[in-house]
Amino acid sequence: MSDEIQLPALYLKRGEDTRLRAGHLWVFSNEVDVQRSPLGGFEPGQACVIADSRDKPIGVGYVNPNSLICARLVSRGIEHALDRSLLVHRLKVALALRERLYEEPWYRLVFGESDGLPGLTIDRFGDVLVAQTTTAGMERLKDAITEAALKVLKPRQLWWKNDASIRSMENLPAYADLGYGEAVAAPLIVREAGLEFECDPVGGQKTGWFYDQRGNRDHLRALVKGKRVLDMFSYLGGWGIRAAAFGASEVVCVDASQSAVDAIGRNAQRNGFGDRVSAVRADAFDYLKALREQRERFDVVILDPPAFVKRKKDLAEGRIAYRRLNELGMQVLERDGILITCSCSYHMPRASLLDGVQQAARHLDRQAQLLVDLQQGPDHPVHPAIAETDYLKGFVLRVLPA
Ligand code: SAH
Repeated sequence: MSDEIQLPALYLKRGEDTRLRAGHLWVFSNEVDVQRSPLGGFEPGQACVIADSRDKPIGVGYVNPNSLICARLVSRGIEHALDRSLLVHRLKVALALRERLYEEPWYRLVFGESDGLPGLTIDRFGDVLVAQTTTAGMERLKDAITEAALKVLKPRQLWWKNDASIRSMENLPAYADLGYGEAVAAPLIVREAGLEFECDPVGGQKTGWFYDQRGNRDHLRALVKGKRVLDMFSYLGGWGIRAAAFGASEVVCVDASQSAVDAIGRNAQRNGFGDRVSAVRADAFDYLKALREQRERFDVVILDPPAFVKRKKDLAEGRIAYRRLNELGMQVLERDGILITCSCSYHMPRASLLDGVQQAARHLDRQAQLLVDLQQGPDHPVHPAIAETDYLKGFVLRVLPA
């Protein structure tokens, strides 16, 4: 069966094809028939045909014998190997969605499994691409990915931002470098809602910008005119500078990173809000406590922290951290205030975040009203069979005296 495309077969045990047939793309190592296809016989990242116990092919994927998720399905057809032409096709399909959704080429172009490319994300910043692989299979395809991206998008530069901590689960090293094009000294510019932000794909967080929150920031429009806004964990000022653009009278951005704080200053200037936006380097929890002591109050408080629950076993601790953070956020809110609170932890359930908010409100004798549910933007589509692709949750709440 694999004669046509010359790939070794990875055989599943009886019944272990059910999840893949229902739409999932992952194979766990205990599902493999290692008598017939010993995992040790595969190199990390090697392409294979994934087949059920009756030899029926499910599709083409790649293996990592050293990982708990030991294979991922890339294509349900078995006519094509994992090659440039498949990548070109996938990129075109991904691009078609983004071109329908957005007027300008600033978005997440590829969101891994959800775009049929497990282990690959690509963010687009105009004619610059910032790509990240998280699996050995995608790492092996780097040259083909670069060629496919050149064919479909003709970028000026392609960066590899391969320093995500999950890469260690696949024994991949952390690095960031230029994969194609010429390095230039000028900062990379993100355009969002008519504003410009400078970011840094190599030294910055993730791939440089949090596109997943773009649509959520639109909600500020109705909420901030003439108001004092506090943007906690502001990174480059995505929320705070949008708030200034929607007419906030004063915006305070807080982040623990000095380079982020410096960039917020430049981004505020660049967009003409230097007089209304200030940026402070501080630990969020310490800063909120200090504001509380000083009886400072804001009309709108935005809490968009990094993931507090990176692994499932951190959930209990993470729940407490989210609750504490939200309580501190409410303590610096005006009597009739707006709280925007988010979690990008996949392992933190949406309901738990809301529970924490409600508990915090009761503890402070305040009443919360949920106005809007937030989720990741459509350039981060959710794969309905893969819960892990649905990670960002948040709420816009009004918080009143009880
Ligand atoms: N709100 C941002 C994204 C936030 S990413 C946006 O919309 O683009 C998380 C940010 O939190 C990072 O910039 C990181 O530097 C910052 N951070 C992490 N821990 C922190 C802490 N304890 N106090 C303040 N900032 C912190």
